Amino acid sequence: MKKALVIAPDRISDALMAQPLLALLKARHPRLVIDALAPKWVGPVLARMPEMGRVFPSDLTHGKLQLSARFMFAQQLKNEGYDMAYVLPDTLKSALIPWLAGIPLRVGYRGESRFGMLNVSHANPPRNGRPVMAEHYARLALRPGAKPPAELSEPRLRTDPTRIAATAERFGIPPQTRLIAFCPGAGFGPARRWPAAHFAKLAQMLRRSYPYAQMITLGAAADADAAAEIAREAPFVRNLCGQTSLDDAIDLLALSEAAVCNDTGLMHVAAALNRPQVAVFGSSDPRQTPPLSQAASIMWLQLECSPCLKHECPLGHLRCLKDIEPEMVFVELRKLLHRP
Ligand code: SF4
Repeated sequence: MKKALVIAPDRISDALMAQPLLALLKARHPRLVIDALAPKWVGPVLARMPEMGRVFPSDLTHGKLQLSARFMFAQQLKNEGYDMAYVLPDTLKSALIPWLAGIPLRVGYRGESRFGMLNVSHANPPRNGRPVMAEHYARLALRPGAKPPAELSEPRLRTDPTRIAATAERFGIPPQTRLIAFCPGAGFGPARRWPAAHFAKLAQMLRRSYPYAQMITLGAAADADAAAEIAREAPFVRNLCGQTSLDDAIDLLALSEAAVCNDTGLMHVAAALNRPQVAVFGSSDPRQTPPLSQAASIMWLQLECSPCLKHECPLGHLRCLKDIEPEMVFVELRKLLHRP
């Protein structure tokens, strides 16, 4: 039985985009065991992928070499007998561990002079010439230069109804509650954050049309300010930002009837759970990082300046997001809520 180790990216969204690679590897080698080495904050999404075996969580952070920690991981993995490693990040550091662990086949894209560490290296297209990330990663399952199948699977996460019910109970959400989740954060910066005042206005419209629905905000502690601003204008929205683990947030999104998300990791989680959602895009490009789900509706104004891919609006007006009126999102959301 062959064993593969995936060196996972350090963002939730990118980790989700790795699943079509796993599915392709399993389709080609059904008995292949696939494990992953992943930053601990993305581990929960990998652990819920049906193709995944074990996930080794790490504290390795982007931008730091942490040589002794990498050496220790390599020693630990040496004993696991991996036949191949798929290195998803483009950095030299990420290729170090499988090389130090002596994994015979080491596959990845060229980058940061890591030629010696990879022995199956694919030409790395420039960022603006790449296919969507899911396809970019999936190509690593093939010979360099080969075309992936026309139809790649979409990222999907496993859910467990018993666990979801337990999570809901822990947060005091009664059974049968009809949840609508807002994900108002965006760690990347304000140019990806739909204004909190717009979220609040949307919440008020939803309250009038669906008085039985419980609205919640989900996100990291850093998103709590945006969530608090929403709750000031719409106090019936329960602020759970910073109060959930990623596993909790996945369970609560799985339970939600619909979601409204900025272009964040949770947007991709909602897509992988196939939950109906309106995904609001500002400075980023939904052609590159779309929510991969038929149940998602994308709001993107395609202004002349968009996508600028900036953290903050260089023009100072943020029209790409401000001009997406709450009424527009409400209309889309209503369509999703009433879809048979
Ligand atoms: S320049 Fe345009 S796309 Fe970029 S943040 Fe400003 S309004 Fe949005």
